Amino acid sequence: MPRPILATVHPDALRHNLQRTRDSAPDARVWAVVKANAYGHGIERTFDALRSADGFALLDLAEAERIRALDWRGPVLLLEGVFEPRDLELCSRLHLWHTVHCSEQIDWLAAHKTQLPHRVFLKLNSGMNRLGFSPTAFRAAWARLNALPQVEEISLMTHFSDADGPRGIAHQVAAFEAATADLPGERTLCNSAALLRFGRQPLRVGPGAPATETLSADWVRSGIATYGSAPDHPRRTAADWGLQPAMTLSSRLIAVQQLQAGDTVGYGSTFTAQGPQRIGVVACGYADGYPRHAPTGTPVLVAGVRTRVVGRVSMDMITVDLAPLDALGVACGVGSEVVLWGVSASGAVLPVDEVAAAAGTISYELLCAVAPRVPFQSSP
Ligand SMILES: *Cc1c(COP(=O)(O)O)cnc(C)c1O
Repeated sequence: MPRPILATVHPDALRHNLQRTRDSAPDARVWAVVKANAYGHGIERTFDALRSADGFALLDLAEAERIRALDWRGPVLLLEGVFEPRDLELCSRLHLWHTVHCSEQIDWLAAHKTQLPHRVFLKLNSGMNRLGFSPTAFRAAWARLNALPQVEEISLMTHFSDADGPRGIAHQVAAFEAATADLPGERTLCNSAALLRFGRQPLRVGPGAPATETLSADWVRSGIATYGSAPDHPRRTAADWGLQPAMTLSSRLIAVQQLQAGDTVGYGSTFTAQGPQRIGVVACGYADGYPRHAPTGTPVLVAGVRTRVVGRVSMDMITVDLAPLDALGVACGVGSEVVLWGVSASGAVLPVDEVAAAAGTISYELLCAVAPRVPFQSSP
């Protein structure tokens, strides 16, 4: 028997979430962002559920090759463009569209020999100060690209720094509009947070409801929402946005300990029992990608019942409080199902966003960090 830890990918949830992002931008085409091996879900494993997307966006050239190997003939966009001149040969051969964010990338294109001119996405640095041409350099970059025989079509792109937070996107939208005002070409601006919060069908309830003006664009870039996590957690939950978990990380209890008052648990004895209580030992640790910094209190489901991690996360095990189950009279013991995040057999849901928040990180990091030793399956 292998260790009972297992990651299950839910294709129906991926399909549902992709449609949900489409509903937010009914006039735009949708890039399914599948960088980082589809946010840890697996490019090959998610491909079928995501193939109704209009294109796949990623940043690793090897991942672009994997998408083409799946016989995807539609658009593929390299979100960071090429890293060295010879990468352009692969772009020509596999018809990859690529971001151009710095003058070196234009130099490389100008020296590139190709039969087929490329489609490029010229990136504006509208305030994030990571990638892109500054507003003052943008037009010159566009003109340079426009003069190159290697370039067939130029689209315009920017990325938001605060789409999920209180600062919002208005200042960057204004910078983008000013810098691109009379330039032709398709536009792409939105990540998941901007799409959900400022798209066509934003959530219309609760405090801080999004502005009613909608953001128009030709392409939107849907990442984390596709995988069923709320980009603006804890302001909103995945359920608020109508998103469903696309991954369940589950395992089982492999031991149970009966503690007495004063007994401690795990490395560093960071948890002390106040009275008699049962503790479950779960086959899941930081070597599986579970966050080592998840403190006592981090939520977990045992036999579909919500309880908490107690004591320190170790390499191969975590320890969980069974008192809530015992109080409810829910039977559990060695072999009982444990859900670290996702959906239990009973249908109970533990959003990855809540586990991430407890551990001081975001869902993106947890989903991407599921370790290679964890076996994956797809739910039927
Ligand atoms: C990762 C990425 C996205 C997707 O972001 P989400 O927050 O996951 O939706 C969009 N655009 C760019 C340029 C990215 O790198």
